Amino acid sequence: MLLVLKFGGTSVGSAQRIKDLVKLTVNEIPKIVVLSAMSGTTNALVEICDSLYNRNIIDATRQINNLKQNYFSEIKLLYTNKQCIEKANNLIENHFAYITAFTLDMFTANEEKAILAQGELLSTALFHYYLEEIKVDSVLLPALNFMRIDEDDEPNLPYIEKYIAEEINKHPNSNLFITQGYICRNAFGEIDNLKRGGSDYTASIIGAAIRSPEVQIWTDIDGMHNNDPRMVSKTHPIDELSFDEAAELAYFGAKILHPTCILPAKKRNIPVRLKNTLHPEAKGTLIANINTKEGIKAVAAKDGITAINIKSDRMLLAHGFLRAVFEIFERYKTPIDMITTSEVAVSLTIDNSKNLKEILVDLKEISQVEIDENQTIICIVGQLPKDKPGYANKVLEALKDIPLRMVSYGGSANNISVLINGNLKKDALQALNKGLFNYN
Ligand code: ASP
Ligand code: MG
Repeated sequence: MLLVLKFGGTSVGSAQRIKDLVKLTVNEIPKIVVLSAMSGTTNALVEICDSLYNRNIIDATRQINNLKQNYFSEIKLLYTNKQCIEKANNLIENHFAYITAFTLDMFTANEEKAILAQGELLSTALFHYYLEEIKVDSVLLPALNFMRIDEDDEPNLPYIEKYIAEEINKHPNSNLFITQGYICRNAFGEIDNLKRGGSDYTASIIGAAIRSPEVQIWTDIDGMHNNDPRMVSKTHPIDELSFDEAAELAYFGAKILHPTCILPAKKRNIPVRLKNTLHPEAKGTLIANINTKEGIKAVAAKDGITAINIKSDRMLLAHGFLRAVFEIFERYKTPIDMITTSEVAVSLTIDNSKNLKEILVDLKEISQVEIDENQTIICIVGQLPKDKPGYANKVLEALKDIPLRMVSYGGSANNISVLINGNLKKDALQALNKGLFNYN
């Protein structure tokens, strides 16, 4: 039985941080370690791709060389053993030669994905070499040999299950495996990825695929907090969350966890534990199929929301109107987050406004439409049983000085959401911290 431990970009962000990983990963417990790229690398690779797209070869070359130099500086600090230094030097030369080749040639979307994959390939190999230097056995599992998404970009779990088992079974005497987060192959076998921040998702998918006893997501904060520490002065970590509570929080803005990450773990009932690399002894947050305590546990905010108000005289007593509305959003593959209705109008929100123009054109054929941009959803999460009074009141009371554009309650027993103007986010989170958690 292998545990799955995922470490993000900052946990492998420097030679020292890579060395520090040893304390957390090298022990008798059998495990798969999933690593992100060193922090800053994926962003740098995105910039390189942008320059390549624009055929701005001078910038691209400079960006590639800068990033390469960073790696050379880090490996000088990481290794002392001559052989390891040489291996790492070759590794870096090879990966950067691969990237540099695109400055001479055409550049397409597929190649962008291949370039973005280099960050995780580098970080995992560097850690693997470091373990070799300190004489710890480990096995590098190539994620590109087992991690697959299907035509809908969903993980192909049966495939992953089969091929990861095959890779693991090649090493019956090993109990420390290292693999890349984020990267995968698509249905055509091309290199692809699980979207930015996707290493959490990798960990959860692997946990589900191997039916791991636990997936641990290691970051630099001691678990999920009740509020955004960047917005309010006092917060506390939450000990336990159900899968549903955690999914709401992750989706609505809690940065510590990638929103999709919960799904595979939930599907196979694999507990997910959020842990702090800087304080490994801290309890962190356990996310599992558990009945957590009743009450409000946390708030989170999601910015950049567009609210669309759709009004129709024909909505009155008409059926089929909502279907017509939803079909338009479906046509443009745009998910809806919040909905409120009245007799003559419906308001809803989207966070992906890529196809907003087209959506508005279609909506205007059946209704009058108004939009408000730069809105923020504030999501209040907990166990809020339907037959218990007072939760909505508590929230509204705390927010009594903030104008509320929409309110949504009752969709699940886990969430109350309100939509406010984005400028008021900090005020709202502070007011909730006071009203719900008694922090001043
Ligand atoms: N390296 C990828 C990113 O920066 C994946 C991750 O960090 O989870 O988005
Ligand atoms: Mg990350």
